[in-house]
Amino acid sequence: MRRNIVAGNWKMNLGFEEADDLVNLIAEKLDEVETETTVIVCPPYPYLELTSDLAQESNFFAGAQNVSSFDNGAYTGEVSAQMLASMNIDYCIVGHSERRKYFHETNQEISTKVVKLLESGISPIFCCGEALEERESEKHFDVVKTQIVESLFNLTGEEILDVIIAYEPVWAIGTGKTATGAQAQEMHAYIRSLLTEKYGKEVSEEISILYGGSCNPKNAKELFANKDVDGGLIGGASLKADDFLAIITSF
Ligand code: PEP
Repeated sequence: MRRNIVAGNWKMNLGFEEADDLVNLIAEKLDEVETETTVIVCPPYPYLELTSDLAQESNFFAGAQNVSSFDNGAYTGEVSAQMLASMNIDYCIVGHSERRKYFHETNQEISTKVVKLLESGISPIFCCGEALEERESEKHFDVVKTQIVESLFNLTGEEILDVIIAYEPVWAIGTGKTATGAQAQEMHAYIRSLLTEKYGKEVSEEISILYGGSCNPKNAKELFANKDVDGGLIGGASLKADDFLAIITSF
């Protein structure tokens, strides 16, 4: 269902105590604000249990940053969708550009992960986005279309409703260089048009499309004011409770 969503991606940051402090602070501050926004906190795996336990009694949901493309079994170092579901994890990021770059994840592998998550009742937060040279050579629409078609368009109209899409231009991630509101809206409207073409307007209007890439308390309002921008996937700014809360309340 289409909602305003702000998800924090902590990436590979923080020690256990810092993580414990941060998630508790976010929970406390969320209790003090009135917001309709769905808030998701995605810590590293070792901190998922404390996050998901606290989420049960707080106004946010716990999410993972990655999932295995395999079911349970002899896959050392992997964490399956079934395991995440058994820990009450509701969301999981897939296809982040850092996983595509450093772990060579392909659209096909990401597609498998999306299916595994949906089979376990977990909503994928599917990331897509172009690199700087792809935007400069005006290939950004084609790149994003290929990522979406190859990783999501095997899903049925019912299944896609449980997917959240995050448009994250790679040149904006962790760089301090944000897309303008107009650039975000242009791509989000394009993504929604692809969804309309494949699944019809009734379905496409129900899917939340988030923006990610150096989103912060200063630019969140301008980004979220656009009609096809339904919130944000937040990296760096999600590690500071005040900044994260300011973004959550930027609608
Ligand atoms: C991200 O990693 O998903 C992200 C958007 O990072 P940042 O906000 O730090 O650019």
